[in-house]
Amino acid sequence: MPPVKGLRERLRDGESVICAEGYMWELERRGFVRAGVFTPEVVLDYPQRVISLHEEYVHAGSDVVEAYTYYGHREKLRLIGRECDLETLNLNSLKMARDVADKYGKLMAGNLSNTTTFQPDDPASAEVARQAFKEQVEWAVKGGADYMIAETFNDFQEAVIALEVIKKYGNGMAAVITLVPYSPDRTTDDVPLVDALRRLEELGADCVGLNCGRGPRTMMPLLREARKVCKGPLAALPVPFRTNEKEKTFQALTDPISGEKLYPLDLACVQCNRSDIRKFAQEARDLGIQYMGLCCGSSSHSLREIAEVLGRKPAASAYSPDISKSFVMGNSVEGHALKVRDFMMGYKK
Ligand SMILES: [Zn+2]
Repeated sequence: MPPVKGLRERLRDGESVICAEGYMWELERRGFVRAGVFTPEVVLDYPQRVISLHEEYVHAGSDVVEAYTYYGHREKLRLIGRECDLETLNLNSLKMARDVADKYGKLMAGNLSNTTTFQPDDPASAEVARQAFKEQVEWAVKGGADYMIAETFNDFQEAVIALEVIKKYGNGMAAVITLVPYSPDRTTDDVPLVDALRRLEELGADCVGLNCGRGPRTMMPLLREARKVCKGPLAALPVPFRTNEKEKTFQALTDPISGEKLYPLDLACVQCNRSDIRKFAQEARDLGIQYMGLCCGSSSHSLREIAEVLGRKPAASAYSPDISKSFVMGNSVEGHALKVRDFMMGYKK
């Protein structure tokens, strides 16, 4: 297989990069991650499931196999009494991602996430975050990651620490840094989000952007503002949920019928459909966003929509919908099938 073109080179040449995220959410849905603590012990307990999801996302169009080490840091594993498994979990996860990436000629990314224990303007908690990131970056180097993703930072200061650690210990790896946009257009340490992205870019991130938190409809306006002030490549990885002006984040969404809050377990009723995802991908592409994907709630069929909007034909496109051959909705419905269709579609009362 020819050598895989690096992330920096792709971005420099104006290419688009599709990155599947949302492993935690999807593996929770499949019964391998516990909602609440959301730790990735599935890597150790059911490794085959992680490999299979990596392969599924590549099949659907991802250019990147992201090692599933999200929340696989010391602070989180302590909560489930598995701190002693930390190194094995990280190295195994990186190896699985590396193997799948090599098998299909894709990029492999190491992963850092917010520690959840960070306190702004508290040097002690900054040091805890720095140490957690340092060991994960060193494992990513050892595991042969092509670049680092540092994601879902709600505090600007913690994102800066992640970037500094990648630059210091990452052996020259590129860094994609994404902040999570919540309801106000600023980080939880009160830096306007767009300003925070610009500053991360100035500090040397190879690509900056937003992931998680908001759905396409409420993330796009921020990205439009970011496009005006950031000079380099931008990343957009929303959650595929129907957030709106009143409920900007998926955590804020309510059930259209009962009015109850839906996060985190009952969001299926406000999931973006394929047309929503297609619209997002078109808008992001037209805005010149080069690095694209979906976060929590992502699934293969949604990812394939993005890939196809970007002109790709991943292996899963061999099974893209062709409704023309449906026996009730196709081009040549006749005979009894017409009656079946009318019953089915509610045309017959
Ligand atoms: Zn997410």
